[in-house]
Amino acid sequence: MKEKVSPFLKNIDSESIRRQYYINGTENPSAYSDPLMEDSHEVVKGLIHKYPNRALIKVSYQCASHCRFCTRIRQIGDPSGTLQENDIDNIVIYLMQHPEIEDVILSGGDPMYTPALTKILLQKIKTIESVKILRIGTRMPFQSPGSFSTPLLANLLQLIDEIGQTKPFYILVHIEHPDELTTETQKVLAHLRTLKVTLLSQTVFLKDINDSFDTLFTMFKSLYHLGVQPYYLYHCDNVIGLEHFRGDIAKEKAIAVQLREHLSGIACPLFVEDVENGYGKLPV
Ligand code: SF4
Repeated sequence: MKEKVSPFLKNIDSESIRRQYYINGTENPSAYSDPLMEDSHEVVKGLIHKYPNRALIKVSYQCASHCRFCTRIRQIGDPSGTLQENDIDNIVIYLMQHPEIEDVILSGGDPMYTPALTKILLQKIKTIESVKILRIGTRMPFQSPGSFSTPLLANLLQLIDEIGQTKPFYILVHIEHPDELTTETQKVLAHLRTLKVTLLSQTVFLKDINDSFDTLFTMFKSLYHLGVQPYYLYHCDNVIGLEHFRGDIAKEKAIAVQLREHLSGIACPLFVEDVENGYGKLPV
C-alpha cells in the first residue's frame, strides 16, 4: 500500500524524522486500540490510576508532534481531552483521597504544549503533601524548541524549578533519532539543565528508523554528553495502525545488548516492553 505523509511534516530535512510520521494504512487484527488499558483505569477524567503508588495525568490530548507511532494515537489532537477547571479540582480531590499515590506523571498529549493549563494543574498538585515526586513527559525540545523562549513556557519552567527545590522533579524528554539533536534543541536541553530537575530520556524502537546500533549509540552518547540520562528504550506497543513501526524483538534485543556493552551504565537505557493488558513495563 502506498505510504501517505502527515501534513505535520514541514521543513524537516531528515528522512529518519519524516518517517516517524508516515501512515502505512495496514492494520493488524490482533492489535489493540488501547493496549495499556488506560481507558479502563481512568478513575476521574484525565487521571489514570493503574499502579497503587503512582498516577498518570493526561493534561490534554494536544501535542506539537502527532507522531504516527504514538501509543495514544486514538486520542491525539482530540480537543475533548483538555482538562477543564472542574476536572482539575476532581483530580486534586482524588489525589488527596488517595495518599498512597506518591508519584504523579504528567503526560497527554504533551503537557508543555499547553503550558498555561499545566501550570494551573501543577500549582494545585504541588501543595498535596502525599505527592512526593513529579514527572513530566515532553517532546517539545525536539519538536518545537522555539517555544521555550515564549513567556508561557518560561513561566511553566519557572514553576517547575520552584517545585524542584522541594520535591524531586523529573523531565522525561522523548527522542527517537540523533538527527533531532539540532543546535536549537541542544540549547533548550542546556537551559533545562539549569533547573532543579533530573533530565531523563525515553525512546521507542522504530523499524527502519532507529533500529540500528550505530544510530542509537550515537544518540544515547550525545544525550549523555548533554546531561540527559537515557532511561527507557521501548519496544513499540501493539497499537492498531502502528504495525509498520514494530520491529523484530530479537533484533532489538541484540542491539540493546550491544548498547549495554559499549555505553557506560549511566548512559544506557533499559530495554522494556509495556506488556499488553495493563501488566506494565517489563525488561526484555
Ligand atoms: S510526542 Fe508523545 S504524546 Fe505527542 S504524539 Fe508523539 S508520542 Fe504521542
